[in-house]
Amino acid sequence: MMGETKAVPLEQAELSLVLGAKNAGALEKAFGYTTVGQFLWHFPRRYVDVGELTPIAELPFDEHVTVVAQVTNVSQRQMHSRRGFIFEVTVSDELDRNGQELKMTFFNGYQARQDLQVGTIAMFSGKVGWYQDHLQLSQPDYAILDTVAEADPRPIPIYPASAKMPNKKIRDLLSLLIDEMTEEQLPEFLPEQLLAKHRYPRRAKAYLDRHHPREIKHAYIARQRFAFEEAFMLQLSLAERNRAVGSQPAIARKPVKGKLAEKFDSRLPFTLTDDQIEVGREISADLLNAHPMHRLLQGEVGSGKTVVALRAILQVIDSGGQAALLAPTEVLAAQHYSSIKKMLGDLAEPGLFGEGEGTGVALLTGSAKTAQRRQALLGIASGETGLIIGTHALLGEHVRFAELGLVVIDEQHRFGVEQRDALRAKGEENVPHTLVMTATPIPRTVAMTVFGDLDTSTIKKLPAGRAPISTHIVPMQLTGYRDRLFSRIREEVAKGHQVYVVCPRISETAAEQGILVATAEDGANQTMSVEAMFELLSSMPSFDGVRLEALHSQLDSQDKQEIMDEFADGQIDVLVSTTVIEVGVDVHNATLMVIMDAERFGISQLHQLRGRVGRGGLPGTCLLTTWLDADHQSVNRLRTIESTLDGFELAEADLAERKEGNILGVQQSGSRSTLRELSIIKDRGLIESARDDVQELMKQGAWATKYPELFAVAESWIDQSTREFLNKN
Ligand code: ADP
Ligand code: MG
Repeated sequence: MMGETKAVPLEQAELSLVLGAKNAGALEKAFGYTTVGQFLWHFPRRYVDVGELTPIAELPFDEHVTVVAQVTNVSQRQMHSRRGFIFEVTVSDELDRNGQELKMTFFNGYQARQDLQVGTIAMFSGKVGWYQDHLQLSQPDYAILDTVAEADPRPIPIYPASAKMPNKKIRDLLSLLIDEMTEEQLPEFLPEQLLAKHRYPRRAKAYLDRHHPREIKHAYIARQRFAFEEAFMLQLSLAERNRAVGSQPAIARKPVKGKLAEKFDSRLPFTLTDDQIEVGREISADLLNAHPMHRLLQGEVGSGKTVVALRAILQVIDSGGQAALLAPTEVLAAQHYSSIKKMLGDLAEPGLFGEGEGTGVALLTGSAKTAQRRQALLGIASGETGLIIGTHALLGEHVRFAELGLVVIDEQHRFGVEQRDALRAKGEENVPHTLVMTATPIPRTVAMTVFGDLDTSTIKKLPAGRAPISTHIVPMQLTGYRDRLFSRIREEVAKGHQVYVVCPRISETAAEQGILVATAEDGANQTMSVEAMFELLSSMPSFDGVRLEALHSQLDSQDKQEIMDEFADGQIDVLVSTTVIEVGVDVHNATLMVIMDAERFGISQLHQLRGRVGRGGLPGTCLLTTWLDADHQSVNRLRTIESTLDGFELAEADLAERKEGNILGVQQSGSRSTLRELSIIKDRGLIESARDDVQELMKQGAWATKYPELFAVAESWIDQSTREFLNKN
């Protein structure tokens, strides 16, 4: 059977050639696999060691156990009070052979009825309960075995399985593959010295150890090898990509004396912090290169990134280039536009032909009116507009730049690699420099995994005079606290300050309408909406005369803009909104941030929201309301926020609680769709050593010719857009 597949490496062979059409069809249906390689990567979720098995005679009540036993009796009875049946299985312990029996029940156990017959040997795991006069397992998990575990002392692999493709079937099919595998069929592609350095098994051995380990520790080492393999290939493809980007031509943007950048600096109403100066130097130096800058600028909310970016933008404009500032939302783009116009003053007024001092600054968003839009586009195309601010509308094909020299992307995590490339492509033959700004500190591991070796600058210290923000949890179950919440809002307004109230959703579902004030009883499963909160505040006598407004994404963008402008202008006292105000919005007079049902938000999100207050030298307060009990797990999370203002610490905490898949998010979408073994959370060390190894390899140069096997595999990792990139250059 294997003979036919010699021509192709085994991993690329069609499953049907090796396992037959029927099995291959079943595997495709169950898991979508079509090649041997995909199936070989169907690794066990865990292993059960014989040592972990519990003899029936020693079953501990109320604990989770695994037993290996043989079915001695099966029966079935109807339920009395409701529809359905109970399938009952009696098993006898095969480990000590002293005839101890155990009963198990399966409610509507159609599958169990099929799988478990008298004589079947299986491994069962579940929680030990008490029923009438005996111990039993109800609804246990089970995996059918060929023999009693005793006979085969090797650990038993437990695979992700389904009803149609149960564990035993998976093991049998994998055995067919693995028992006949040879080293020649599974050529190694990781460089020998790397395997030696990390003491990883070669591919064939690693598969064997993963699926049929002699001891669990061998499976663990094999697992490390496959996870490392993913980390290494990912780092390699990122390094290649960055190298490709870095070797492209760009125009060096030298500072020019007496022009906008200098004037701007001399007019700044504050002194730059040391971090801002240092980071500014790094960026300025990058801009002098004839290859594109590719830099990530990290800094807390309010750390002054925008000023830093603006100085770089002016350096580029002074030397004859244009800059585009890309924001994730229309609200934020508009905010940038107005605050940058204000900061620039008359530097944002293009002078008459040749004699003017300033440069045009324009806003272009998806909702711009046709005339407005046309004018913006003209200014960009003619070069009269030096700085264009907008959302992803800037990526549109009809947007032509006279000479795009710098792309600044705010809030990086919302943009994918593809979008960045789309903008970069607008530089025609010369590639614009790129600066990406993020206020969400990116944990080192994630930055490495997503960006590879992107250069990073960090603003660590906030500008002096920034008032501290104090954060408190408000337990809504306690009436006293609840009342205090509203009077606290009222007091802040009385002092002439402004308040944000953020709710997790926009409106009530039909069933909930009419319930405006949640009581302690229904509060727990009820989350506050913008509409309900708005109405609640409007209806409270103590809020008479308080100027309230509601803001959320379903309003049309002109309304949204008007509301934001009015709030910024101090014409609204309390703004009830969703997280549309999350990023970048800057209103100095806002001092109180109330977050309703705070447990509904992620750690980073809460931290971002909190950063909206305390920006104008006035101390800020953030109140996190929750209906949950004090000892609820999610309240712990809120305590983390309450206890620190350190964004990096919170980013790590956030990472630890997120599910793996969310981390790479859109950035991953271009490349091989998912990481299967590598965990960004748990495999930090592996990712770091893979990155070091890749750097070493790149230093040697010409790795593709030195390691053709590696290159062949790397090609499938290097994503489509990078490949196009490589082809173009
Ligand atoms: P970020 O974009 O990092 O959140 P901004 O650049 O919007 O921060 O800056 C927040 C506020 O702080 C702005 O009003 C800005 O003018 C002000 N600011 C920036 N740098 C300084 C500084 N060195 N000293 C005082 N205020 C500053
Ligand atoms: Mg900002």
